[in-house]
Amino acid sequence: MTERAPLIAVVPAAGVGSRMKADRPKQYLPLTEGGEPMLVLTVRALFSHPLVDRVYVAVSPEDPYADALDLGDAVVLRTGGATRADTVLNTLRAVENDWPETTLAMVHDAARPLLSHEDLDSLVATVDRVLREGTAEGAVLAMPVADTVKRADEHGLIAEDVSRDRLWRIATPQLFALRQLARAIADTPDVTDESSAIRAQGGRVALVPCAPLTFKITEPADRALARQLLQRKDTTMDLRVGLGYDSHRLVEGRPLIMGGIRIEHTLGLDGHSDADVLLHAITDALLGAANMGNIGLLFPDTAAEFKDADSAVLLREAWSRIAAKGWQINNLDCVIVAERPKLNPHLPAMTARIAEILGIDVDRVSVKPKTNEKLGFEGEQKGISARVVALLTRD
Ligand code: MG
Repeated sequence: MTERAPLIAVVPAAGVGSRMKADRPKQYLPLTEGGEPMLVLTVRALFSHPLVDRVYVAVSPEDPYADALDLGDAVVLRTGGATRADTVLNTLRAVENDWPETTLAMVHDAARPLLSHEDLDSLVATVDRVLREGTAEGAVLAMPVADTVKRADEHGLIAEDVSRDRLWRIATPQLFALRQLARAIADTPDVTDESSAIRAQGGRVALVPCAPLTFKITEPADRALARQLLQRKDTTMDLRVGLGYDSHRLVEGRPLIMGGIRIEHTLGLDGHSDADVLLHAITDALLGAANMGNIGLLFPDTAAEFKDADSAVLLREAWSRIAAKGWQINNLDCVIVAERPKLNPHLPAMTARIAEILGIDVDRVSVKPKTNEKLGFEGEQKGISARVVALLTRD
């Protein structure tokens, strides 16, 4: 697996949001009719991203709302302070000993639920690059200012023209090395964003252009706009297809295990684990669709713990990691190429077992056996192969 620094996200959610004129802090207001609170959407936008290892939500010590929310794998910490900087610093201090020296930490506003994976990808890629090149200490998402900008006087009259040349609106997430960020905020506590604290220490911060959808929901009008965008978004679902392939050698003296069931046969499949060629191909199809690596990276066949491993356990483990990113299985379509034995009688048990392992309806699993007309290693009964396509969906 490629070495990369762990990546955590902190969502300060201890503010009261008085500008929204509502009965509770704005992060707890649903954005759409009967929909989920803004904080839930924001946190999901972060933890559904494959590179984010942990999301911490920082609420005030006396917060009565957070425990009732469905925040998935996010960890709620009662580290809220008097200011945003206090909250972020308390949270970084509370978790830093759980993470290695190289850990990166992003801070993201609870009021920016429309953050896209694409913008997060650009931010992470930029920080990887500037740290590698030594050209900056981190980066922030930001939007170039397109409107003409003026400064007003105290009567609301234009007092001054402000050139918009090289002006940017700073958004979040803002991403830096965890410990460096904590030190910077501790030394400069009266800042309104993390990049100011880093810069106050002489650090450089790269700007990463992001979609205007990353806007902050502050006024009731912002909420109305976000609602419209979300309702439109609800109708477009993220779809990903994955392809898995595997083959194993047929030998004497091994049981034949395919699709999680044992099939009576004179030969069995050889391998480090139980050599379940179909479950291996399914695992890779799912990992491929989610772009989360492959079975060999997750469960190396050099590792003693996977010797004779039950492939159902490996598949379930892989799927639980994928599902944690918000994916659901739409369907699996599988082909097993085997000259013998006849597999049709075993298909109901196989599909039922696969559906059971993955916790999905059996109607979503199709397994089709093929002979290879005596051609190739499958046809010569030297081995069996499997091919699987998987379709994942995410709201
Ligand atoms: Mg295999």
